[in-house]
Amino acid sequence: MKTEIYRQLDREHHLHPFTDYKALAEEGSRIVTRAEGVYIHDSEGHRILDGMAGLWCVNLGYGREELVEAASEQMRQLPYYNSFFKSTHPPAVKLAETLCRLAPAHMNHVFFTGSGSEANDTVLRMVRRFWALEGKPDKQWIISRENAYHGSTVAGMSLGGMAPMHAQGGPTVPKIAHVRQPYWFGEGRDSEPEAFGRECAAALEARIHELGEENVAAFIAEPVQGAGGAVIPPASYWPAVRDVLARYDILLVVDEVICGFGRLGEWFGSQHYGLEPDLMPVAKGLSSGYLPIGGVLVGDRVADTLIERGGEFFHGFTYSGHPACAAVALKNLELMQAEAIVERVRDDIGPYLAKRWATLGEHPLVGEARSLGMVGALELVADKAAARRFPKSLGVGNLCRDICFDLGLVMRSVGDTMMISPPLVITRDEVDELVRLAGEALDETARRLAGRESVEPISEETRS
Ligand SMILES: *Cc1c(COP(=O)(O)O)cnc(C)c1O
Repeated sequence: MKTEIYRQLDREHHLHPFTDYKALAEEGSRIVTRAEGVYIHDSEGHRILDGMAGLWCVNLGYGREELVEAASEQMRQLPYYNSFFKSTHPPAVKLAETLCRLAPAHMNHVFFTGSGSEANDTVLRMVRRFWALEGKPDKQWIISRENAYHGSTVAGMSLGGMAPMHAQGGPTVPKIAHVRQPYWFGEGRDSEPEAFGRECAAALEARIHELGEENVAAFIAEPVQGAGGAVIPPASYWPAVRDVLARYDILLVVDEVICGFGRLGEWFGSQHYGLEPDLMPVAKGLSSGYLPIGGVLVGDRVADTLIERGGEFFHGFTYSGHPACAAVALKNLELMQAEAIVERVRDDIGPYLAKRWATLGEHPLVGEARSLGMVGALELVADKAAARRFPKSLGVGNLCRDICFDLGLVMRSVGDTMMISPPLVITRDEVDELVRLAGEALDETARRLAGRESVEPISEETRS
């Protein structure tokens, strides 16, 4: 009864993010009421293994009393104060110091925001401001990648490379260019993976020449592209990009919103790939999603210029470094260190997930099963031998996602790519359960598709 009331009120008053409102009104929302460990519970009594850690963020899992305590203690002490007028407070200071200690050695400053999108808005303004202060005001172009996700504010979506987002509410922010993504399964199968990785890096260099080095401010990329489909680049890609960037005076912005805080088995994805970013936007796992907080870690080169030559930086948010959010983030990082979560991902549960996840690659519906650390993806295909995709109109990814939910697993779909990003604290038994449920969902998806494909026109579809 309660469920129906919530559903109705939700339909009548609540505009969800990234949602087709009419379709949701017809189907009704799932009402998630509580959670513990790696499981969420809905109002109808279902217990569901959260293979997405919320939205790539609940890294320490649900129900961590220490984080609840940190928030309530801080809210009693000082629920809010800003850091605008030459003021600060202990949680923001301690969090800044801790973050810079965990970050690569040349990163010693942080600018706090309320989210990953705000972090990337900050990146855009900071990068262009840096070059203006360096006496190179023409260096304004930022090169990003197709299908990248950098948030949903105007700067965030402009930096991102999602065509459907660009098509709504534009025009996008000027002087942002996009180059091809290192998505071998989707776009590179005419070449060997390593050759394809180098082709993508060459495309970046070609674009730098096209725009003119003197006009290019920065290159921004996620270490592993998350929302775009858990795109793990070929091993050749990042070293080749590093070589390209070394030839030009262009800042490197590594968006660590998903890869940061242990997801790839290092504190930051940059460390996994041996990158030396000038700026690192962070959010999500910073607080394990318990409260909203993000930031931009700033390397010495940019920070020195901002500090020494900058004067006032006219930028900031009411909730920059919010005390309760900062206190929770700080406790989150302390727990990660005390429980050696990053090492666990690198040495134990990451390799275990990789081994178990790879078994799904044998399924007739799966063209590729890939994973790195605690990120995994499956490419659903109509013809395994030819790695031919289903027609888009079938919506196979969404079908599989819905079946997963019904079976008790959250697995997200982007086109026909299925993705997981479970809490970093997931146990081996829970990984086994995740893989078993994913396998059952693939079986059920195949059953429901049987006979349907032949009536649809076959085409070589890649995602838009
Ligand atoms: C989620 C995400 C963002 C945006 O973060 P929000 O907190 O949703 O604004 C930016 N970059 C990446 C890589 C993300 O995954």
